[in-house]
Amino acid sequence: MKNFIGKVVLVTGGASGIGAATATMFGRRGAAVMVMDVNVEAGADMQRALAAEGIRAEFVAGDVSKPEDCRHAVTETVARLGGLDVLVNNAGGGRLFPTEQLSDEEWRHVQGINIDGTFYMSREALRVMAAQERGAIVNLSSIYGVGGYPNHVAYVSAKGAIISLTKALAVEFAPKNVRVNVVAPGVVLTPLITRNLTPEAQKYFTELHPLRRMGQPDEVASVICFLASDEASFVTGVCLPVDGGYTAQ
Ligand code: NAD
Repeated sequence: MKNFIGKVVLVTGGASGIGAATATMFGRRGAAVMVMDVNVEAGADMQRALAAEGIRAEFVAGDVSKPEDCRHAVTETVARLGGLDVLVNNAGGGRLFPTEQLSDEEWRHVQGINIDGTFYMSREALRVMAAQERGAIVNLSSIYGVGGYPNHVAYVSAKGAIISLTKALAVEFAPKNVRVNVVAPGVVLTPLITRNLTPEAQKYFTELHPLRRMGQPDEVASVICFLASDEASFVTGVCLPVDGGYTAQ
């Protein structure tokens, strides 16, 4: 399926996990891809891997929690790839802390890379998309943005806010023909999970999904591609779980 030929896609946190799978899938479907990531080495490796597949790809270093980096990433995308059709706000993450032990710095860090970054990137991209009256944004929430979970107050708050932000932007920018949607993955086997969860914890989470397994990055990427595509041309403001039935229970 080559349904993104001629499109330019910017993926934040595109050097690892779901972001890497998403950048690759868009590229294989014909898009030119800008990878933005705070990890310069991994981002450069990702650009080379995409280019080795014949995908037109660029890398821009940046931290989504910094408004100036977000402005730079969008400017560079337009300058180097000739436009911006799709933004995927994928950069994010969080760590487990009992609330009483959660520091101000950790709270700010999690808000910064999740909700602040999603806002800063969207604001910059929407300036381009609103002017051209065309575009799609796909945000990354989580099952942790849909319900409450212990020891995750910063992440749950930030991922919940991303769902609200998505709805607000979807309604505001619908008259400009820009769609904004959000996916809420269950536990997906990426470095975020292998880094933060013991094998026992991974087994525990696996069994909480009705499909009795963790998701694969490609299984989230394909839903992101769908929401960004013309196949979803009448879909905006939606939070789509990609969670093996987790939130259906
Ligand atoms: P990951 O840790 O494998 O990859 C995240 C990427 O984002 C890395 O390349 C990292 O360098 C980059 N990044 C981190 N902070 C950044 C910043 N401030 N600016 C720019 N880039 C930054 O993570 P993943 O598991 O692929 O998760 C991707 C997204 O999906 C995150 O928003 C995460 O919260 C969400 N999510 C993941 C899961 C899961 O189980 N893996 C579940 C639900 C939601």
